[in-house]
Amino acid sequence: MRKKIEKTEAEWREQLTPEQYHVTREKGTERPFTGDYQVTDTVGIYHCVCCNAPLFENEHKFDAGCGWPSFDRPLSGESVEEHMDTSHGMHRTEITCSRCGAHLGHVFPDGPTRTGNRFCINSVALNFHEGE
Ligand SMILES: [Zn+2]
Repeated sequence: MRKKIEKTEAEWREQLTPEQYHVTREKGTERPFTGDYQVTDTVGIYHCVCCNAPLFENEHKFDAGCGWPSFDRPLSGESVEEHMDTSHGMHRTEITCSRCGAHLGHVFPDGPTRTGNRFCINSVALNFHEGE
């Protein structure tokens, strides 16, 4: 089992930009088509912006046209955790970083690849490491 990272809200606030803090610690959503990672063909790994855990691989990314980077699977089953989210009158599955609990986005069961999943993730929650 990986070590969990626990920080106070003040420590996260100090480490993150206001937008990163809002999305990852307050379960915010960046505006669509504003993120850095919607479309890129560069090979690499996306890490958690809060704790640097590797979460997603560019190979598993596809253009869902929704304005956020979308993946058909996480890097491994242990990278992320799923939670029931009934906020905003919807039934959705929230995705968080399993190491630090950062809110990343949601997963929907309508993906176009054989996994059938669409992990819709906020760019601001991710840090891309090219060539990994
Ligand atoms: Zn994390």
